[in-house]
Amino acid sequence: MTTKKHKLLSNPWFIGTGSSILGVIILEYFGLTKILSSIWSVIKWIANLIADSFHIKVQVSLWFLILLPFLVVGLIVLILWLMSIKKKEKEVAKESSFLDYKEHQFGDVLYRWDYVLNYTGKMVVDNLTHYCPKCKCMIVDDNCPVCHENFYNKFKSHDEIIALITHHIETNNLNK
Ligand SMILES: [Zn+2]
Repeated sequence: MTTKKHKLLSNPWFIGTGSSILGVIILEYFGLTKILSSIWSVIKWIANLIADSFHIKVQVSLWFLILLPFLVVGLIVLILWLMSIKKKEKEVAKESSFLDYKEHQFGDVLYRWDYVLNYTGKMVVDNLTHYCPKCKCMIVDDNCPVCHENFYNKFKSHDEIIALITHHIETNNLNK
């Protein structure tokens, strides 16, 4: 009997099966609930995480929806403001660009001039002088001191030249 018992206990199949059953029993009574509750905890945690993130998402999109009209209006105002600045810059550039326009040949005479600020704060033509268009020398007593060309009767009146210069500035045609 003892040898039979001993034989049975030393049988690897008996030991293997027995320990497996014992393991399952131990697991059933002491471990399974813990494992199950652990798995349940993980599932709950994941579910909570998903629910939380969904809640946050909903909150964010709600805030976004509330802020959206303000953002759009703000963006439009910003674009319009930037456009007005650009337009103003262009106008200023256009207004001051004529200051480099300081000579023009009208007819047979080259005219040169400066600009001065008048009492109304406007830039006006000043110091209008006559030059020979060929040698760019100032005309003295209707004559060019260099090529001796005579300019008698070739001058336009001062008012006519001012009118022509003003017209070229106003039409932005500043090529000589
Ligand atoms: Zn000349």
